[in-house]
Amino acid sequence: MNVYDSNRILDLTKKINYVLTNTINEADCYVLNTCHIREKATDKVYHEIGRVKKEFKNKNKPIVLIAGCVAQAEGDILLKKERYIDAVVGPQSYHKINDMILNIEKNSKPFNYTDFGVIEKFDTLNHIKNSDSKISSFLTIQEGCDKFCKFCVVPYTRGAEFSRSIIELVKEVKQLVSNGSKEITLLGQNVNAYNYKGKKLSDLISEIAKIDALKRIRYTTSHPKDFTEDLIQAHKDCAKLMPLIHLPVQSGSNRILENMNRKHTIEDYLQIIKKLKKVNPNIKLSSDFIIGYPGETQDDFEKTLELVRNVKFINSYSFIFSARPGTPSFHLKKIDNNLAKERLLIFQKISKQIKTEYREELLEKTIPVLFENKTKNENKYFGRDECFNSVIVESHEDLTGKIKNIIITKVSQNTLFGEISSKLIHKDFAA
Ligand code: SAM
Ligand code: SF4
Repeated sequence: MNVYDSNRILDLTKKINYVLTNTINEADCYVLNTCHIREKATDKVYHEIGRVKKEFKNKNKPIVLIAGCVAQAEGDILLKKERYIDAVVGPQSYHKINDMILNIEKNSKPFNYTDFGVIEKFDTLNHIKNSDSKISSFLTIQEGCDKFCKFCVVPYTRGAEFSRSIIELVKEVKQLVSNGSKEITLLGQNVNAYNYKGKKLSDLISEIAKIDALKRIRYTTSHPKDFTEDLIQAHKDCAKLMPLIHLPVQSGSNRILENMNRKHTIEDYLQIIKKLKKVNPNIKLSSDFIIGYPGETQDDFEKTLELVRNVKFINSYSFIFSARPGTPSFHLKKIDNNLAKERLLIFQKISKQIKTEYREELLEKTIPVLFENKTKNENKYFGRDECFNSVIVESHEDLTGKIKNIIITKVSQNTLFGEISSKLIHKDFAA
């Protein structure tokens, strides 16, 4: 979501004649877009400001703006502690960025813009052309969260659940597709809670699937509580909907899930997977896990391992519990840090093993890959398969934007390598 926000900040600032530079010390304005999910986010801001200060030691100071969730949560402290910062702008206020920059150009007083103007934000953004022209683009369709998991800052930094107008979203997808995008990832903190005047995520998917030049649709991040039957059915009905579903579970223990206020059980979770696989046997899962949540016993941890072995997630993102100020679990007694680290290592070893086995099974298989760009190595192209695996292929033909059937010849932990196949498989993949 921060990538989408950063692109939109660029689109907005073009209106006041700012353009992107890849050379830091040439910048007139420096925007640091931040995430506050885990610890050290604020330290990273101070570190980054230190780097900018160094770059501009013998030059005029650029305008320095801190955007995103750290600005939302700790804006006043940042402005007080680091005088180099001109303004902080929360994730729901960045549509005001041009006024902020123009104000700062006139007047050097530090500003804090952290209102929750989410309706106003998207009203403004809807009128600014989305210039993203990547083969695979992101589109924020939903923001905020009403779930209040006890460990999580999102409901406090991004505010309540809000869904954008389906008409505006279809318009923005058409814009992205006319810019050259072939794949769109629909984004939201709870993307499957999308509900605009009764139109759900499945309705939006079926609307945008009608756009001919759009070849692939993904969505992330889903919450098990909002995984409704219509969305499951969409995985049967919509061939453009990709079969990898990122469905964070956090723990394999119902006791911990309840303590976290996750609002779903392991049985609910497994039931969703069962239904998904019934409508589409190609479905694969990835998930997020919090290891060492306060009160996690060895038995709870083993239930998490059991779940991982049972579901065989093709990617598992695991984090040690990080106590976030302002959340209900901040004051809970933490488990021993060494024990948490030990569990994380065990967890990661098992999930890596599962991932390796899955990837080895892909050897010699023929799979469709959408190519996104040429790599720095000559004649090598980077693309992704339907399950979002990175694939590298050598070709003399420009593959950018094309979908080709690829025979996988080599696998590593993070990349698949292959060759173009002449074999045609179940669909017409002309792009
Ligand atoms: N909405 C999604 C869901 O329901 O799970 C997750 C969004 S959250 C922004 C991304 C991931 O960060 C979570 O799935 C969780 O695993 C991790 N996370 C959030 N707060 C955390 C914390 N306090 N400590 C460790 N990991 C955390
Ligand atoms: Fe955070 Fe996701 Fe829970 Fe919302 S549902 S509070 S975003 S972890």
